[in-house]
Amino acid sequence: MNPPVRVLYLAGSGRSGSTLVTTVLGQYDGVFAAGELRYLWQRGELENRPCGCGRPLRDCPLWREVRRDLPTDRAAAIAAGLRGRLRMRGLPALLRRHRRGRRPVPAHPDDAALTDLYAAVARHTGARVVVDSSKLPPYGALLGALPGIELRVLHLVRDPRATAFSWRRRRGLDGDTDPELMSRPPVWKAALLWLVWNTVTVRLWGGGAPESYLRVRYEDLTADPEATLRRIAGFAGVDADSGPFTGPATVRLVPTHSVAGNPSRHRTGPVPITADVQWRRDLSRWSYALVTGLTAPGLRRFGYPWRRGVPTPAPPAGLTSVTGSGPPAGSAPSVEAGQSTAVVGQSAQVRQPASAGQEEG
Ligand SMILES: [Zn+2]
Repeated sequence: MNPPVRVLYLAGSGRSGSTLVTTVLGQYDGVFAAGELRYLWQRGELENRPCGCGRPLRDCPLWREVRRDLPTDRAAAIAAGLRGRLRMRGLPALLRRHRRGRRPVPAHPDDAALTDLYAAVARHTGARVVVDSSKLPPYGALLGALPGIELRVLHLVRDPRATAFSWRRRRGLDGDTDPELMSRPPVWKAALLWLVWNTVTVRLWGGGAPESYLRVRYEDLTADPEATLRRIAGFAGVDADSGPFTGPATVRLVPTHSVAGNPSRHRTGPVPITADVQWRRDLSRWSYALVTGLTAPGLRRFGYPWRRGVPTPAPPAGLTSVTGSGPPAGSAPSVEAGQSTAVVGQSAQVRQPASAGQEEG
């Protein structure tokens, strides 16, 4: 029997820096940045979208090897099955089963293919840790119940006003030249999704052991990238000294073989990590108020202020948050005005000078 595959599962809502964290982690020894593996069957196998290395997925040498061990002729059925099993309307039943100590997502014949996928990825990459940035909590719950998988959950949270603003940007699914756009939910929907996915992530894993759940805020990550990634690497069981940092907030990236995700996953070379704070200036008052009202139950829990420009309070005691070695909890992300940035949570194509302290919209 093979040892279990350790999967570092990035959970939470979208636009929270998961693509950057995945790409950076993929540079560490023994780590494979798999990207959003729940999309492998649809966007990878059926649509043949680009791998992180730039080749169409079916032409990527690594994925060619992995796919040999998978029932690729059944990709359409597996993709459809996953969509059906992970629907939002199934959440109440999922949480009920979890509370009762049962498997949150009931077993299904396709689970054997998913088990084989993670085993094949580990086998062909030689990785000790596979990073899966699928984010959707129900998919993480499904993975956690599969044999041969040891799940560790990294919960990434970002200010919902920032994620709502980010979702509205017009972007190609795989870069500016891609005619298919990434989804652009209205701010009210982005706010509700933020609340639902973050709340469900806490319900599923927040009460678990510190070895199995770590919560990191985007704002803390961008305030002190190297120290934060060091904490994440330690949590994942990875050699924290083997990372790509050339400075406290600069990494040197080589291509990964990640599936799906933000187009910024194709970025390589020296990349400074800074916060994307355009929303502070450009999110309208109305949108700010709407998102704040809809996400109010989660703002306090995750340590975000109600009012624009109010310093972020520290999360309530007892929560795992990587603020220990960074600036004082609650400090605004330190971004130097006028700096050319590769902002986390944005596509590589969207670049503009970041501006610190511009709190009014
Ligand atoms: Zn590739």
